[in-house]
Amino acid sequence: MKIRSRRLIAICLGIALITTLMVPGGTGLAAADDGPVSLQILAINDLHGYIEQTESLDGRPLGGAAYLSTYLLEREMDAVNTLRVHAGDAIGASPLISGMLQDHPTIEVLSFMGFDLGIPGNHELDEGIAELYRVQYGGTHEVAGYFAGSSFPLVLANLVSAESGDPVFPPYLIKVVEGIPVAFIGVIT
Ligand SMILES: [Zn+2]
Repeated sequence: MKIRSRRLIAICLGIALITTLMVPGGTGLAAADDGPVSLQILAINDLHGYIEQTESLDGRPLGGAAYLSTYLLEREMDAVNTLRVHAGDAIGASPLISGMLQDHPTIEVLSFMGFDLGIPGNHELDEGIAELYRVQYGGTHEVAGYFAGSSFPLVLANLVSAESGDPVFPPYLIKVVEGIPVAFIGVIT
């Protein structure tokens, strides 16, 4: 798993800004006691199908869904509200364990881990939009077979159909945390 921290921080800052903008009332959806609501957003990017630990760095295991899940759970224990998001390249350029099955295993693992949403990166589009649609919404691949699809939505505001001009995925998603709407806007490079 290669974490590109600059991108991670950019996404987190973007999300934090949106959160701040949404919180100060006027929505009629404020929390019951009108006090501050804390929200932790755990974001990953560039998992690239590394659901199995295959490498080490300085004696520490690198990659693997079991390790990732443990790290996320540890951080969730300290927070009242947590949302899990992935900010791109969860799939594509993957090792055999995921890639030989069109990355179904990685989407299954992230679904099982309870991710709330994802934002496609360039590698989600390695095999084109039709294949990403199939992996996201379910369907049969001639080699990898049937896949039920992802349990979490993808959002993407700046990828539009050449024919219609409409976004190919929902541009944003609003999660409600203790009565506070929090908007996530997906953006791809
Ligand atoms: Zn990447």
